[in-house]
Amino acid sequence: MLARVYSVALVGIDALRVGVEVDLAAGLPQTVIVGLPDTAVQESRERVRAALRNSGFIHPQRKVVVNLAPADIRKEGPSFDLAIALGVLVASGQVASQDLETFCWLGELSLDGYLKPVRGCLAMADGVRAMGLKGVIVPQANRAEAAAIEGIAVYSLDHLNQVPEFLADPGRFLYQGTPTPLTGPSLGLDLSEVKGQSVGKRALEIAAAGGHNLLLVGPPGTGKTMLARRMPGILPPLTREEALQVTKVYSVAGLLKQQGLLSERPFRAPHHSASAAAMVGGGSFPRPGEVSLAHQGILFLDEAAEFRREVLECLRQPLEDGEVLISRTRQQVTFPAQVAVVMSANPCPCGPKPRPGSSQPVCVCSPLQRQRYWNRLSGPILDRIDLQVQVENLKPEELISLRPAESSQAVRVRVVQARLRQQERFQGLGLTCNAQMQTKHLREFCLLDEAGRGLLQMAIQRLGMTARSYDRILKMARTIADLSGSPTIQVSQVAEAIQYRSLDREGKLLAG
Ligand SMILES: [Zn+2]
Repeated sequence: MLARVYSVALVGIDALRVGVEVDLAAGLPQTVIVGLPDTAVQESRERVRAALRNSGFIHPQRKVVVNLAPADIRKEGPSFDLAIALGVLVASGQVASQDLETFCWLGELSLDGYLKPVRGCLAMADGVRAMGLKGVIVPQANRAEAAAIEGIAVYSLDHLNQVPEFLADPGRFLYQGTPTPLTGPSLGLDLSEVKGQSVGKRALEIAAAGGHNLLLVGPPGTGKTMLARRMPGILPPLTREEALQVTKVYSVAGLLKQQGLLSERPFRAPHHSASAAAMVGGGSFPRPGEVSLAHQGILFLDEAAEFRREVLECLRQPLEDGEVLISRTRQQVTFPAQVAVVMSANPCPCGPKPRPGSSQPVCVCSPLQRQRYWNRLSGPILDRIDLQVQVENLKPEELISLRPAESSQAVRVRVVQARLRQQERFQGLGLTCNAQMQTKHLREFCLLDEAGRGLLQMAIQRLGMTARSYDRILKMARTIADLSGSPTIQVSQVAEAIQYRSLDREGKLLAG
């Protein structure tokens, strides 16, 4: 007899329906699994056999053929165990077989028949919802995770021996927990805790408002990391759709620690020794890397010049496309990667510190050393940075100032307003923020008046800026205008934007 039940396979963060067909045939007792299974799926033969026996069922003394369809998608992991065991039970007539096609079965079996949680359960449950199936059956430990998906019934089983009871009365196993509502960012870190740093804070606000990438340059101890960590708190709250995407990435990576959808924008700060695979994802069954774990949030590269060049190089495509494409034999996987990059760098390799008798940091690098240092950054990734800002040591009066600084909440209100203006402007163009504008959009949305054009031309000539810098200044000026609610770009806004090209402006940093 042939049985067919359903499960799902993960491709990236998306789920595909997999038909699990089980056929009992005459022949030597053995189990064969076909349909591109990996080792963990192959091993499911042994788990299923033992789990059936230890749950009071019989493993048929026949040839058991299991086909996982479609055959051209690679199947990985132990999450098909439950579906295979059910297929064997149905094919051998040990349980009733009505209504099976309306459910999707997920779960790893232990040898004693208990169900163990599976990785990526939330992403799989979302896939099941999209397929229009009636419900998903998951291990008890996964039920709260799966229940974060609205619009699908979640049933949970603890042990394989509950399957007959479930088929007789599914309602008893329905999980009644409601998904935790989206709470919005908790703002654990607040901008008001950062003293001084008015330029750094303003740059953070502009970067958040226009979706710009940001480089903070300054000697050690000036609070670059402190500033960067507060960036997620001034970005607009995640929408439900965005939160779902972010949570799916964490679910697939096996990093989901809480119930319900993640409601805070991620902040990822990989160490500078990180490999390319850790950064963009990889493995024979690809897992998301740091750039995808930072999706809809911040990827912070602290001491950016210390990262290996090839690691920075491989960030180029994801930053360009907003997604990571990983190619494997027979399979291509994409992970989302819409991130804002915040980098920090010392002005030079020695990391200048104040010396005795001087409050200003003293550098001991040769011009050649400085040149080499900046060359490491200049190619692949500096090209994609709109704001380059110098962060200085606090002045004594700033250190002791008791005046309360502005809160993240207050800044976020302006950022949200500026984002709304951009959405209105870009309706139907497929853009979401100013940083994404192409040259043709600049001509339409970033018109300057006579004075603004004159100032920008002068800056270009005097400072020897490139055409690329020109475009970036226009985009930033547009964001600064949006923050102040101005439909046109004022000359003062152009002037402010020029300030944020400090590497261009102070060619000395690059030239040594
Ligand atoms: Zn130095």
